[in-house]
Parts: sequence; structure tokens; C-alpha cells
Amino acid sequence: MRSTRRSAELFRRATEVTPGGVSSPVRAFRGVGGDPFFVARAAGARLWDVDGNEYLDYVLSWGPLILGHAHPAVVEAVRDAAGRGTSYGAPTEAEVELAERVRELVPSMERVRFVNSGTEATMSAVRLARGFTGREMILKFEGCYHGHGDSFLVKAGSGVATLGLPNSPGVPAELSKLTLTAPFNDVAAVEEIFHAHAGRIAAVILEPVIGNAGFIAPDDGFLSALRRITGADGALLVFDEVMTGFRVAPGGAQERFGIRPDLTTLGKVIGGGLPVGAYGGRRDVMDWIAPVGPVYQAGTLSGNPLAMAAGLAQLRVLRDENPYPELERRTRRLVEGLLANAAELGVPASGGSFGSMWGTFFAAGPVRSFEDAKGADVELFKRFFHAALDRGVFFAPSAFEAGFLSTAHTDADVEDTIGRAREALRAALG
Ligand SMILES: *Cc1c(COP(=O)(O)O)cnc(C)c1O
Repeated sequence: MRSTRRSAELFRRATEVTPGGVSSPVRAFRGVGGDPFFVARAAGARLWDVDGNEYLDYVLSWGPLILGHAHPAVVEAVRDAAGRGTSYGAPTEAEVELAERVRELVPSMERVRFVNSGTEATMSAVRLARGFTGREMILKFEGCYHGHGDSFLVKAGSGVATLGLPNSPGVPAELSKLTLTAPFNDVAAVEEIFHAHAGRIAAVILEPVIGNAGFIAPDDGFLSALRRITGADGALLVFDEVMTGFRVAPGGAQERFGIRPDLTTLGKVIGGGLPVGAYGGRRDVMDWIAPVGPVYQAGTLSGNPLAMAAGLAQLRVLRDENPYPELERRTRRLVEGLLANAAELGVPASGGSFGSMWGTFFAAGPVRSFEDAKGADVELFKRFFHAALDRGVFFAPSAFEAGFLSTAHTDADVEDTIGRAREALRAALG
């Protein structure tokens, strides 16, 4: 067994001073039971906790670290930027460079605004969509997570689902009423909603590939149907690419599927592990944002020089090395291996990957919606998760989260993981 004495002691102290002992709920391991480990340091594909245990990391800070932990180019860029000042509250060249880079990679983002998190990006995009269209309703999909903004905490996937909260108290009912929901991959439901609320929906927002209800891919034609329906009604189509952006392809899911949304939100990979979010899109829409237009949105630390430097450094390495084909191949191999383990041990399982984003369910599948995902064997997952942790593999601590791969994960790491996961599953089955 791993020693967890120092983590347990820190967790005890943490719960005295912060709700649940964590700065973000999923870190508390409520979805799998037991106490979280506290991290001492990380490098490449590996994490070490304060008790000295080593883990192969498939959480990767929940998505940002596509180059792995402490990539030298990112660390060097941050160190260099810090030496020149940590924040100015005045524009810098790095913001221009990063915005230009984003537009080059994601051409639908004709104008880009930087914020500090994915949550801020989606909240701002929806305010903008409402301001631009003069409409108040939005449509989201069950199981899609768009950060913790009030408008989005309706059927919002993993974090809230794990806690058994359908919606969050504290969100005014008047506001929740403006958020319509449909099952993912259900074009007929979307058409019905647009029929019932024609001309009143400001935006349809979605994760083009879901990562926050476990990994769920869009059916062929689903995204293009949304493009057609929103276009015909005058609603804006917002791709929340906070997770998929720069991860599933240099230009995100919209590049892979060939769909041009009106607005896009980014986070995670764009910041190289520092707090960065961004939203952007059609120039005529973005021109509604202050100071050009009347829709207000601002931020003291937005475009922070350290964060811009980290993001630029990470995107530069991605451009220079183009690791996407390799990442995709290795990620496919991981999922194939995990599913083969399950088949060998007689456990119904399904899963998939897209770029270096992946997920498996202990459910026969196919999983096409959050409703399907909820059919997975969560109790088995909990035992599997802890057995994997004991064998030095850190998978996301919830049955409803996607996993990631970084360029620091080698073929040998992946094979090693598959082997350890087989033993973990065997142990979980008892
Ligand atoms: C993580 C995530 C968010 C929220 O981003 P934060 O930086 O955690 O606020 C929004 N949308 C999607 C799709 C995400 O995966």
C-alpha cells in the first residue's frame, strides 16, 4: 500500500480552512471516495505527492498540459517574463502575438479577447451573444460543462453530477429559466426547441466533443445540423473549445469537423498551465464588446504577461514539433489497451478518443449522451480508480471525466499503464 500520511495530514488541515479542503470541488475525490493526495512536484508525464509516491498523470491539470508538466520552454518563458514584471495593467506585445497566433490557428476567431479562465470566456461569450442578438435565451446540452457561470449550471455534467446536484442553489430561477437544454446528439430535440422559441434564442453553446460527462463524440452530421438550425434562426453558434482547443488539432474541433462557429471560447491549453481564457469570433459580433461596442467585459489581470508568455511558449512548441499525429496514435493505443483489459476480464466497457482527449466507461455503449453515460458502473470505477492509484496511475477521479495524454507520455508509458490498469481492474473485481 502507498503511504499517504502527509497527504492525509494536509487534507485535515485544508478542510479546516477551505470548503472540502480544495480550491475546486472535483479535486476532493468525492466522485471516487477517499482522500486526495497533495502534490509536491511534477515533471513530464509524472506527478509526485508529498509522501513521495509517483504517478503517471492522465489528468494533466484537467487539460492544459499538452506538453506535460514543467516543459522547459514554458518554464523558461515564465521565468523570463517574471523578471520583467508580473502585471502592468497596460497592453503588451505578447497579447498581440498570442491573439495573432490564435487567429492564425482558429480562423473563425477574427477578433480575440483574453480573460483569466474558461468560465470567464463562456460567461462573456453568452453576454455578448445576448447583447448582439437582443435575445435572452440560450440552449445548452445535457452533460456539457461550460464553467460555473450562473447561466450554465443547468444539467452541467461531471462536477455537479458527481455531487448529485441537478442544478446549483444560488442561481436565480428567473435566470435558469432562460437556459434551455437538449440531449447531446439529438437534432430532433433541437429543432423542436427552436420551433417553440423561434427568434428568442441568443445562442446555442456546446462542447463539440464532450469531455465533461466522460468522453462523448458528436454523431456524424450533428454539428452541421446545429450550424444550419442556428443560422436559419439568427441565433449564434458558440463552440466551447476550452478543452478541445489546440488539443484535438491545432485549430481545435472546428478544424477537424470543418464547421465555422460564430463564437469560440478557449482556455486550458492556451495558457500553458497558467490562467488564461479567451473568446472570439465574427468581427461584427466581437465589435459589440467594450470599448468598441456597448457590451461590457473587463479584467485587471486579463492578458497577464506571465500567462501570455506561457501560452505563447506552449503554442510555439506545438507548431514547431507538430506532435498531433503521434499524440493521436498513442491515445488510441491507450484506449484500445484499456478496452482490451476489460474484454479480457469480462467487463462491459466502451470508450473512444479524439486527438489526445479520451475516455472509457464501464458500460457496454455506445455512449452518445449524458443519459447513456449515467448507465456506467460507477462503483466498479471507484474501486478501479483507487487500485490504479495504488499502482502509480492517476486517472481522473470521476467516472464522468475525460482523460488526456501529453507529448511527455511515451509508448513505454502507455504500455506500462495498460499493464497496470489490467492489474487494477482485476483487483477492483475482487
Ligand atoms: C474546463 C472547462 C470550462 C471551464 O474552464 P475554467 O478555466 O475551469 O473556468 C469551460 N468549458 C469547458 C468545455 C471546459 O472543459
